[in-house]
Amino acid sequence: MKITAALSGHGGEAPQLVELEQEAPRAGEMRVRLVATGICHTDLHEHPGRHAPQPIVLGHEGAGVVEELGEGVSGFAVGDHVILSGSSCGKCPSCLAGRPTYCDLAMPLCFGGQRLDGSTALCGEEGAIHSHFFGQSSFATHAIVPQRTAVTMPKDLPLEKLGPLGCGVVTGAGGVIEALKVGFGDSIAVLGTGAVGLSAVMAAKLVGARRIVAVDLSDERLELAREFGATDTLRGDEDDLGGKLRAITGRGMDFTFNTTNSVAVHQLALEALAMNGTAGFVAAPHGPFDPKMFGMLAGGKQLRGILGGDANPQTFLPLLAEYWRQGRLPFDRMLAFYPFAEIDRAFADAQAGTVIKPVLLMENDA
Ligand code: ZN
Repeated sequence: MKITAALSGHGGEAPQLVELEQEAPRAGEMRVRLVATGICHTDLHEHPGRHAPQPIVLGHEGAGVVEELGEGVSGFAVGDHVILSGSSCGKCPSCLAGRPTYCDLAMPLCFGGQRLDGSTALCGEEGAIHSHFFGQSSFATHAIVPQRTAVTMPKDLPLEKLGPLGCGVVTGAGGVIEALKVGFGDSIAVLGTGAVGLSAVMAAKLVGARRIVAVDLSDERLELAREFGATDTLRGDEDDLGGKLRAITGRGMDFTFNTTNSVAVHQLALEALAMNGTAGFVAAPHGPFDPKMFGMLAGGKQLRGILGGDANPQTFLPLLAEYWRQGRLPFDRMLAFYPFAEIDRAFADAQAGTVIKPVLLMENDA
């Protein structure tokens, strides 16, 4: 079948729209007609070529309608509304324990650009095009997805808004709720308030955290963080941020949640912790980083990597959609919509940070 997709690997600033041939879904896969797809920093980082092979169709916050079922697919019907999350094998100990973001095969399944047997679902003029990015490659009008990648959504919810639940929102909200298990009376500093950080702020409010401190360089984002539930805000360029964060509770933060790759912010995340505190992070430091192990030991502190919010998409994403419906997780206030044909403008705005979460509309009614 002919589809339109945005291709990375030609050296341009943004993926380029091309017509490709897409094969039918194989056993255990479905064809999803995409309605919208969010753009995430992982797409920006992968576009010039990093972990995944090229040429490839990126995109991993897809939302769409099931159009065709491969052999053996169960639990889905043509016409179902779905959002797409990461791919996982379903058989390893992590998957069996309900922790599919730490699937033993997460790297080849999400970044391999192909199925485990080496085949891809896409073909262009010059031959095979890599597909299956995060099990979806959703910068396209249609995606071939393993059924484990798809999560059913209620049909009365606005599907075009829901894609970011599958990566950006779950990374922040799951990070706070599932990974760090922040609760009533706890304090947390959220370092960096992009889509992931702002989702973390909303989640910290949902679980009743006592102090929720947002730190960022953008006054506009700090204002939004306050509206989403931050009790305190600090600009990231202030002096002695560690001291100021510690002073807010008088003894430091129970949790920090770092969404940045800055070495200085990684240091700050540990410095701001109270005794027995935990520093969660979702991006690795961009250079050499010294966690000062004696301080970790003496303070009983933990440093905790978190992927995909530790969440099981099949159970957690429907919950997020339900909280949104109730008005308690207003993540849609972060979204900015673009027609698919303007993916270059959406990429430029995402790079420049002038929008928080760009979302491409495949059906062109932005
Ligand atoms: Zn697995």
